[in-house]
Amino acid sequence: MSASESACGYEYCPPVAVAREGGCSCGAVRYRLTSEPMFVHCCHCLNCQRQTGSAFVINLLLEADRMELFAGEPQPVEVPRDDGSTQTIFRCPSCQVAVYSEYGRPAVRFVRAGTLDEPSSVAPDVHIFTRSKLPWVTLPESTPAFDLYYDSKTLWPAESRQRLDAALGR
Ligand SMILES: [Zn+2]
Ligand SMILES: [Zn+2]
Repeated sequence: MSASESACGYEYCPPVAVAREGGCSCGAVRYRLTSEPMFVHCCHCLNCQRQTGSAFVINLLLEADRMELFAGEPQPVEVPRDDGSTQTIFRCPSCQVAVYSEYGRPAVRFVRAGTLDEPSSVAPDVHIFTRSKLPWVTLPESTPAFDLYYDSKTLWPAESRQRLDAALGR
């Protein structure tokens, strides 16, 4: 393929963002995200604080088949949550770093942005569960923030909502 030809075979091909890559601390698990996330959550809930041992978690919401694992196989760990439900956290079998989570729907992954090679390449689209936000964390005025959760129908771009519907087969 010459440089002037497009990857998708059409004469005009819209520019594709460079795929993001990431992985665990020991390097056994490596992944590539083949498209932009549908939406980016910054969650300040007590579960996320406990799981990360930190102030919040940053999750990229993405279809499972758009996360290409090209090294290693993260292992599922069932983790109890305060509401009585469980969440499945997928960890590197060697260094145990948490790479992504599932919340009952395997078609959608919550990829932990801190495992990206360049975590600065994404920013939260929404802050959720700010009722338990640590008081010294100051949020930008420009990003929507909610005490609890929010309505994805009003906040997500149409394209992302279509992707979610397709992923969930609805
Ligand atoms: Zn590892
Ligand atoms: Zn949370």
